[in-house]
Amino acid sequence: MESADVVIAGAGIIGLSLALDLAAHGLRVTVLERARAMAEASWAAAGMLAANDPENPFQLRELSQRSAHEYPAWLAQIEQLSGRKVPFRTQTTLQAFAYGEAPAQTALTAPELRRLVPDLIAGNLTFIRLDERSLDPRDLCAALPLAAKAAGVKLIENASVISISPEENQVTVQTPATPIVAAHFINCAGAWAPSPALGRFSPANPAVTPCKGQMTTVRLKDQQNLLIVLRTPGFYVVPRGDGRVTIGATVEDCGFDKTVQPQAIARLLQSAARLWPPIAHAEVFESWAGLRPASADLLPLLGQMGHPRCWIATGHFRNGILLAPGTASVLSQLVRGTVPEIDLTPFDPARFGSGNTRPLDRLVPRSSDKPATAAL
Ligand SMILES: Cc1cc2nc3c(=O)[nH]c(=O)nc-3n(C[C@H](O)[C@H](O)[C@H](O)COP(=O)(O)OP(=O)(O)OC[C@H]3O[C@@H](n4cnc5c(N)ncnc54)[C@H](O)[C@@H]3O)c2cc1C
Repeated sequence: MESADVVIAGAGIIGLSLALDLAAHGLRVTVLERARAMAEASWAAAGMLAANDPENPFQLRELSQRSAHEYPAWLAQIEQLSGRKVPFRTQTTLQAFAYGEAPAQTALTAPELRRLVPDLIAGNLTFIRLDERSLDPRDLCAALPLAAKAAGVKLIENASVISISPEENQVTVQTPATPIVAAHFINCAGAWAPSPALGRFSPANPAVTPCKGQMTTVRLKDQQNLLIVLRTPGFYVVPRGDGRVTIGATVEDCGFDKTVQPQAIARLLQSAARLWPPIAHAEVFESWAGLRPASADLLPLLGQMGHPRCWIATGHFRNGILLAPGTASVLSQLVRGTVPEIDLTPFDPARFGSGNTRPLDRLVPRSSDKPATAAL
């Protein structure tokens, strides 16, 4: 029988960043991935490191700030281990508010806005400027699995966790091949985390559901370029710095469906083109959908899951790219038996009790399935 110090289910950004941190602390880590690494929500994301998004729950502030602060060193570590570049694609975000809702002292004037984004049509939105960065998640998809492997992580793809059996001193993790005995098991299966295969725990399986997001990327024409992320209450526009611009995203409660609907993409494009007209002439070259892991209160679940040797890190909803390095450090501290540097009480996996709450009923969308064209 194989053995490891830690077995992680799920090779998305959360599972792999945690594996990397644990391996860097000398632990033997195996990551089991049902399909391909970094091919679900972590592949589908826009890549904004939106630590200052006014729609974020206030309980996320400390973890967000910590994660944003850790990002440069974390990317440097990944680049060094993988030999692949993961550059920040933008350094600045313009955050829009409906008229009258922006903090008055920081609202940009019309000339200031024109200087930053010459073709912007603000309509009745007001904007503030944030020093917030973004990256292209596809760069991370290429680099992070290589970095984890270079750090000594054993990454096994096409290997679903079939069941887990926690005992007093170990957890036996059943895979399609051989069982693995580990000191700890961590469920990082994103929207699939509540699967009974990943443990039946008391008081309940984690209250997480998939939240579909559709997005599209266009290529700008005629040397047009955009260097700043534009984020409105209804949609966002994220440039990649090379003429590509990603526009997102819908927020939909429809199970594990990942169908791309042309009408939803058309609505996103129309809204974005009203705000920044060069998008109207751009060529669409890719549209897709991904499944955000959403908990009942839209906060992550970080901590022990019903047994002293079983842990969970999921529910990062629309901020999993931002929160990955911070989550990896604090959960690694917990699993290694040290006190985490930030208070994880708001993220206690046991906070949902019966676990029957329907997560998306309380959703306050960054975007919805109908982008807010009326605001523009
Ligand atoms: C459209 C969209 C836009 C987004 N934009 C942003 C953004 O701009 N900024 C940001 O910070 N976040 C963004 N997010 C959110 C972010 O993508 C997610 O929060 C994050 O990727 C979640 O990572 P994860 O590792 O938990 O889940 P995933 O990446 O989904 O990984 C979970 C993995 O677990 C595997 N798995 C499932 N069951 C099993 C099993 N039984 N055994 C083994 N493996 C299993 C799955 O195959 C999958 O690979 C966006 C998400 C979407 C969909």
